[in-house]
Amino acid sequence: MTSPTSLPPDTLPPAVIDRHRAQLLFRMKELHERLHGIEDELASHQSKDWEELATEREQDEAMSALGEEGAHELRMIRAALDRMDADDYGFCTQCGAQIAEARLDLLPATPFCAGCAR
Ligand SMILES: [Zn+2]
Repeated sequence: MTSPTSLPPDTLPPAVIDRHRAQLLFRMKELHERLHGIEDELASHQSKDWEELATEREQDEAMSALGEEGAHELRMIRAALDRMDADDYGFCTQCGAQIAEARLDLLPATPFCAGCAR
């Protein structure tokens, strides 16, 4: 007799993975748009006089930090999508434990379980 739930209990159902994949793809699109916005804004600062440049340099630095963060998040998302393709998604890359579904709902790109993220 096979049980009606044919999946092993430690594997995420495909529907759950699809939901997280959609979340990740949506977030990725958002980040792309934000990062391109930052690039355009930085590029528009090229031909200004010196006084203006000094103020804008400070803003540029703040925006570059934002860009760094976004780029980092994008890398996390791409890695998570890769793990989905490899059927490794939902497992901690550190200790191999299953990541709680509630945690994946909040942080679909996280490679770590709650224990390892601390
Ligand atoms: Zn872990």
